[in-house]
Amino acid sequence: MTNGELLRLGTDALADRGILEAKTDAWILFSCVTGLSRAGYYLHSGEDALPEWQEAYWEKIEMRKRRVPVQQITGEQEFMGLPFSVNENVLIPRQDTEVLVEAVLPMAEGKRVLDLCTGTGCIAISLAVLGTPECCVGTDVSREALRVAEHNNRQLGGGVSLIESDLFERVRGTFDLIVSNPPYIPPAVINGLEEEVREHEPRIALDGGEDGLDFYRRIVAEAGGFLSPGGILAFEIGHDQGGEVERYMEKAGYCPICRRKDYAGHDRVVIGEYGLCRQ
Ligand code: GLN
Repeated sequence: MTNGELLRLGTDALADRGILEAKTDAWILFSCVTGLSRAGYYLHSGEDALPEWQEAYWEKIEMRKRRVPVQQITGEQEFMGLPFSVNENVLIPRQDTEVLVEAVLPMAEGKRVLDLCTGTGCIAISLAVLGTPECCVGTDVSREALRVAEHNNRQLGGGVSLIESDLFERVRGTFDLIVSNPPYIPPAVINGLEEEVREHEPRIALDGGEDGLDFYRRIVAEAGGFLSPGGILAFEIGHDQGGEVERYMEKAGYCPICRRKDYAGHDRVVIGEYGLCRQ
């Protein structure tokens, strides 16, 4: 079987299973196995596929047929132009979250930064690598997730301090910027999501409690004790959660508060300044 045939058969196998991005997914898995670029592929598409390529490729196609996300099969997702390792213990970094990082990157200059629910570490590590914070701390309640964050931190040279902690539980000191993309999906909504997310991404990284807002309430209630005067609290939010989250922050003394939209035009980020405005 030639390389061209191998790629085509894999694509068909995914399409038969109703996988929408069959062509893209099959190509990603093919290039992951063979190491071939597009140009390399066109050069070698008529040649016989190496037996070890065939074996490894079919193994990955079988995983994808079981709706394992492509990123968990290749073990990687790009975020802010940086390659982050992922596995089944962490949320796969989303493009929406880049809106949050881009919004706070200029605010992190020379500042002490804390990232709660760090997962892969994508927020904390991007801020540390692409920006110039004084220091950057990331926390996660999941030891398995922290292992992934530690790996990414080493690979990307983030220099982030990573702590196993349920939100602020083991955090010490104060920060100028607290940032978080906490789990924010109500369980009822998770059940309606695509199988890739519902069955393969960690529920602990998705489930935000009955109304999806548990983590915002907890973080807003405690963040004041860890923020310097004039410090910033910045969240990623679900598209319909902006009003509620803003209200929690207003009541807790944040002012001014602003929202940012994602590339689809939905509210995605809420940012507030702590305790400087006079009521
Ligand atoms: N902070 C990580 C991310 O944005 C993980 C978020 C989470 O687990 N809810 O991808």
